Amino acid sequence: MTEVGEHFQDTHPLPMRCHHLLDSWKDETLARKFHQVLVLKEEILRQAALEGHPDLRQLEVDLFTPNMEISTALALKEFDTQASLCELFQSPSIQILDGSTSKDSFFLRGTSMKLCPRCRLYASHSPEKLCLRCEKVIGN
Ligand SMILES: [Zn+2]
Repeated sequence: MTEVGEHFQDTHPLPMRCHHLLDSWKDETLARKFHQVLVLKEEILRQAALEGHPDLRQLEVDLFTPNMEISTALALKEFDTQASLCELFQSPSIQILDGSTSKDSFFLRGTSMKLCPRCRLYASHSPEKLCLRCEKVIGN
């Protein structure tokens, strides 16, 4: 289990505002949540690389977070399906577990999933077979 370091605690400035967006599209709350999620992804990628796994696509992630803003954003609102979470993190599995810890932390493990030849994610149960999501899209 890896605890997320001090540098994770929202010391990252929000990215520069994009001034050519329509005003009706601007949502500062959503931007802040996305920013937190992307900082978390960055931290997970950094730790995975330290552990000798530069490719998050082959790692499953168990995420423990007492930070309700992050867990709510991840689990309930902006990312309403497991598939969209996996797509965002480019990981075959992101499990958000009840944060009984006082700090954000995560656990990484290698996946047994196989590379889907269509989406290139490790999301298939058998080699050379499409993942369930691609199967649905293709209509097989
Ligand atoms: Zn696929």
